Amino acid sequence: MRYISTRDNAAPAMFAEAVNLGMVPAGGLFVPEYIPTINFESLVNESYQKTAVATLTPFMDGFNKEEIEACVNEAYTSESFGIPEVVRNVAVDDGRFHILELWHGPTAAFKDVALQIMPRFMQYSKAKCGDDVHTMILVATSGDTGKAALEGFKNQKGISIVVFYPHGGVSEVQKLQMTTTDGANTRVVAVRGNFDDCQNGVKALFGDEALINEAAKRGIKFSSANSINWGRLCPQIVYYVRSYLDLVNTKKISYGDDVDFCVPTGNFGNILAGYYAKMMGLPIRKLICASNRNNVLTDFFNSGIYDKNREFHRTMSPSMDILISSNLERFLFEMSGRDAGKIVDLYDSLSQKGSFSVDADMVKKMTAFIEGCWIDEQTVLETIGAIYREHGYVMDTHTAVAVAAVQKSKTDVPVITASTASPYKFSADVLKGLGIAAEGDEFESVEKLSHTGAGAVHRAIEGLKEKNVLHDRVIDILEMRETVRGFL
Ligand SMILES: *Cc1c(COP(=O)(O)O)cnc(C)c1O
Repeated sequence: MRYISTRDNAAPAMFAEAVNLGMVPAGGLFVPEYIPTINFESLVNESYQKTAVATLTPFMDGFNKEEIEACVNEAYTSESFGIPEVVRNVAVDDGRFHILELWHGPTAAFKDVALQIMPRFMQYSKAKCGDDVHTMILVATSGDTGKAALEGFKNQKGISIVVFYPHGGVSEVQKLQMTTTDGANTRVVAVRGNFDDCQNGVKALFGDEALINEAAKRGIKFSSANSINWGRLCPQIVYYVRSYLDLVNTKKISYGDDVDFCVPTGNFGNILAGYYAKMMGLPIRKLICASNRNNVLTDFFNSGIYDKNREFHRTMSPSMDILISSNLERFLFEMSGRDAGKIVDLYDSLSQKGSFSVDADMVKKMTAFIEGCWIDEQTVLETIGAIYREHGYVMDTHTAVAVAAVQKSKTDVPVITASTASPYKFSADVLKGLGIAAEGDEFESVEKLSHTGAGAVHRAIEGLKEKNVLHDRVIDILEMRETVRGFL
């Protein structure tokens, strides 16, 4: 299988090339030439790792069995993920309502599932492409991605990583998670500016010819770790498969029964993986796309109009505070019947006017199995409190957006809700939802939360306060370029 561009502006690429390049150089995203189908039923009793190998293999032409197994088995260890099953399905009530905990990895966010394996794909991909240039990954983060990328890329041969975060713009826990990262190839820099400044700064570096040439002279190229890389997207298909099969395994459903999934969505990466799982043959009936007040996707699914010209809201679910969902492009490509010309038109319109619209037929086609739903801040807090009182389960703010969306939707089949962060990552807001006053610093909130039934403090956060800060650089926005030059 090869990978083609959503905008038909690249020669078909092998998996290794698609991973090595990240996005299509002329704009557009790599998608598989066709969506393979798999007999998932034969995997009911298998481990996460075996399920991952079976699910990923059809996407990874050019990799042999040993290489795929090496990537999977090195990424998904019990040591990294804390639990042998890697992800965990929790039945919150006794029948229909399941929460899929995706945050047992090293940084307590679901991004670990992809970012633990993607660097391994990248290593092999570089070798297969005969690319012996050093790769410097540049990341701008509003919190979660930075640490997950640092953990994934640290100590990877031939790769280094630089993370920029807004000085004073991330939580104390998130900051310490990043600044205490060890590994000889990691750098973390605070920028006196907000997340957009960091993001725009990094984007400017990717387009800075002089800097790129200077790096090339020293045998270095820049790359990104964000979710437009197919190598980051495809590993996420696996947990849809595994969580469905776990319900079969525990006799909650029979193979072939419909389930719905509800996903707290930002960049549309996670839920898109669910769509691919469905197209590969997993019996998923409906995908609920849950958003916070930044409800651009809800409006899109309701009206067919995608319009980013709107106020940006900071919410308690910051990883979903996004107005341009990059991975939607892949979904629209499929929904348009793989019409690359159409995608070019839509994205021209988005870059010129900040909006685009699709016709009623396409809306009908999408909403046959996808439902948009957005949740306000007050409801997030109430949902955290209500689920705790009724079921004794403590969840984070992102998960709560999705759980509230399930309660709002009229689903009448078992539903699996993706839980994307440990409650300990957002302790103060979670406490607020539980009706407990959060006083003092974030570590006091973590301590308080540990007495509520939230389970043991996640090891990514336990002991963080005592760890040595290894990265303490603070720079101005205009110094980002010089800072990267200094790292060359
Ligand atoms: C990144 C993230 C999301 C959004 O996932 P997308 O794939 O961008 O839609 C949701 N919750 C948390 C905690 C995240 O870190």
